Amino acid sequence: MKIVLATRNAGKIAELRRILSGFDIVGLEEFPSIGEVAETGVTFEENALLKAHAVAKGSGLPAVADDSGLCVDVLNGMPGVFSARWSGRHGDDGANLDLLLAQLSDVPADRLTAYFTCAAALALPSGKSRVVEGVLPGRLVTTPRGSNGFGYDPIFVPDGDVRTTAEMSPDEKDAISHRGRAFRALAPVVRELLAS
Ligand code: IMP
Repeated sequence: MKIVLATRNAGKIAELRRILSGFDIVGLEEFPSIGEVAETGVTFEENALLKAHAVAKGSGLPAVADDSGLCVDVLNGMPGVFSARWSGRHGDDGANLDLLLAQLSDVPADRLTAYFTCAAALALPSGKSRVVEGVLPGRLVTTPRGSNGFGYDPIFVPDGDVRTTAEMSPDEKDAISHRGRAFRALAPVVRELLAS
């Protein structure tokens, strides 16, 4: 059974393929007529559902979409759904990270708790949908470390580790990440909904 993952990111497609074995996972590049879906929601769940519904409708196939971000406790959960555009420019990881560090410069290290979160949604062409969430709790460091990963990885240390997620191998990060957790939680939901 074919499932479309609402992304053009090859890493995300490979990760979902590993988790949802038995399904034929394809990316948006197979559907050039489906344009970028605006992330107009104000929660991760809303954005994941928006994207999954749009792609299920556009492709006529079951669609999975995810939306993720970094939530910093002293910033009341921000950057949150605005993680990718925190500095005002969508996808400028360096500027987003620099702005966040500047905002946190006076906060004591023991107050820098944060978590990554990911909502993963499945939508069917019939309009049926489900959404689940995966969370990775941790804390921020103020000096970036490591060159793997992307986004806020160089300043995020998961609970129980001393390394930033940018200092972990992709496999080590997949095993604990918010996205890995959300995709793994979605796998039984996909099997159940597609069997019904
Ligand atoms: P998206 O859900 O892929 O659009 O991610 C939104 C934004 O959240 C990214 O641009 C990053 O800034 C941040 N983000 C989400 N997941 C991660 C992660 O695993 N590491 C670092 N940053 C992340």
